[in-house]
Amino acid sequence: MNSVSTDHHSPPPDEKPGLYVHVPFCERKCPYCAFFSVPKPALIPDYLDALSLEAELYREGWPDEFDTLYLGGGCPSMLNADELAWLVDTLRRRFAFSEGAEMTVEANPEHLSPPKLAVMGHLGVNRLSLGAQSLDPGDLDWLGRRHTPEQVVQAVEAAREQGLADVGLDLIYGLPGRSADHWRRVMDAAVALAPTHISAYQLTIEPRTVLQRRHRQGRVRLPADGDAADLFRLTHDHLAAAGFEHYEISSFAVRGFRSSHNQKYWRRAPYLGLGPAAHSYVAGRRWWNFSSLKKYLAALRAGDRPVGEAETLTPAQARLETLMLGLRTSDGIDLLAWRRDFGRDLLADAHPAVARLMEDGLLRLEGGRLKPTPRGMLLADQLPDRLDPGPG
Ligand code: SF4
Repeated sequence: MNSVSTDHHSPPPDEKPGLYVHVPFCERKCPYCAFFSVPKPALIPDYLDALSLEAELYREGWPDEFDTLYLGGGCPSMLNADELAWLVDTLRRRFAFSEGAEMTVEANPEHLSPPKLAVMGHLGVNRLSLGAQSLDPGDLDWLGRRHTPEQVVQAVEAAREQGLADVGLDLIYGLPGRSADHWRRVMDAAVALAPTHISAYQLTIEPRTVLQRRHRQGRVRLPADGDAADLFRLTHDHLAAAGFEHYEISSFAVRGFRSSHNQKYWRRAPYLGLGPAAHSYVAGRRWWNFSSLKKYLAALRAGDRPVGEAETLTPAQARLETLMLGLRTSDGIDLLAWRRDFGRDLLADAHPAVARLMEDGLLRLEGGRLKPTPRGMLLADQLPDRLDPGPG
C-alpha cells in the first residue's frame, strides 16, 4: 500500500489511529542524534518481552483498528529476522490492523540483508525508511555513520529485488563547510536512486549530544541563518524540479507516497506509541513513556504502564498546537475543521495578522485552507504566535 493521503489538517472524526513502536537500540550513538537509544543489543530479548506486556496492557482499551504501523528508533533494523518477525507477530495478535495498512520500518543500510528484507516483505512491511543521511563519503564520516554510499545503493536495490518498492531516504544537509553545490550533488545522487520519499533534515544542534559539546567548544560552526534559509529554498526548488511534492518542512514525496503515519502527527490524529520514550495522543490527551530502558523494563515487570508523564491540552493549547503542526505542512489549516473543533473563525479572529502574512508572501488562502507558502513553511515556528487569537 502506498500512502495516498486524505488532506485534512485535522483528522476526520472517523480517522483510524496509527501505532508507533520505538526500538531503542543502536550500535553506537551518532554525534548529532538526540533520539532515545542505547548501545545495548544484549537487552533486545528483555525489551521484546516488555513490549509484548505493554501491548497486552493497551489491548483492552484499544478496540480500534490501526491503519498504520511504524517501527522507528533507534534502529529497528538491528533486530534480526526472527526478532522482527516475533515483534510484528506479537503486535498482530494484540491489535487489529486494517486491510492494506501502511507498515513502515526504519532501517540503516548496513543492517539490510536480502533474507531480512524477504522476512519484512513476508510480514507485510510495505514501506522502508532508509537512514542514508548522505551519499557522500566525507559527509557520512563527519556524521559518524557506519555505512558507505555504496551500501545505500545496495540496500535500495536489494529492497526492490525483494518486492519492497516504496523506499524513502533520510538525508541531512547544512553540514559545516559544505557548499550549496555539494548539497545539490547529494540530492542528485539520492534522486538517481528513484526513492518514493525523501526526508531532508537541516543539521541542528540538539541538547545533550556530542555535537552540542563540540559546538560549545567552537569546533563546529553551522551555516548562518541566511545561508540556512538559502539551503532550505534550494532543497525545495531542487526536489520540486525532480518531481517531489514538498508536503511538510522536511518531507518530500512522489505524488501518492506521503507518509500516512507521519501525517497523523501533524493532523493531531490518534496514535499509540509503545516502547521507551514513545509518545501517544488521543483526543487532546498526550502521554509519553520513560526515556529510560531500565525504568521501562521495571515498570512492565511490575505490571504497570511505563508512562513517565501525561498532559491534557487546554483549548488554547490545542489551537496553538493545531497552528504549529498544520503550518509545517503544505495542506495548512482547514478553516472549516477549525470552526468545528474550536467554535471560532480563524480568519476573523486573526484578520490583521493573516492579511499581513499574506502580503508578505508567507501564507495563502486556497480551497478553504490557510496554507503556508514554501517561505512560510520555513518560518512555521514563528507564525502560530502571530495568528493565535489568544485565550478563550
Ligand atoms: S541517528 Fe539513528 S543510528 Fe544514529 S544514534 Fe540516532 S537513532 Fe541511532
